Amino acid sequence: MAFVKIYTFDNYIDAQLRLAQLKSEDINCWLQDENTVTIDPIISNAIGGIKLMVHESQKEQATELLRTIINKEKENRACPKCQSLNVEYIVTNRKPSNWLSAFFGYLLGGYALGITKVYHCFNCGHEFNLEDMPGQETKS
Ligand SMILES: [Zn+2]
Repeated sequence: MAFVKIYTFDNYIDAQLRLAQLKSEDINCWLQDENTVTIDPIISNAIGGIKLMVHESQKEQATELLRTIINKEKENRACPKCQSLNVEYIVTNRKPSNWLSAFFGYLLGGYALGITKVYHCFNCGHEFNLEDMPGQETKS
């Protein structure tokens, strides 16, 4: 029984989610270093994160499946105006676009300076917010 690594996660929730998604498609897979990373997230970087291990015979299938899943999630992040996927999460220093964001900006302090993070579409220039989008946080 030979297992190969097809993906690496830096957080437990993502890893568990993908594992469940692959398992539901009858992929024989498991997570390596899962416990280490969960107990001590700081070690995560040192050991290279949580590895998604898949049985060799299902490597192609699992990789393809994972790619499909991730692409699908990217589509959810597509520009609402032109559907382009050429969208990045950026910091903008535009003025709040309406009274509501100005109001919350006032409440939240930092936003009062006019610094907001938005999704910017490089295709049509549209900017939008998706507060609850999974995996939207920027990695430093
Ligand atoms: Zn667009």
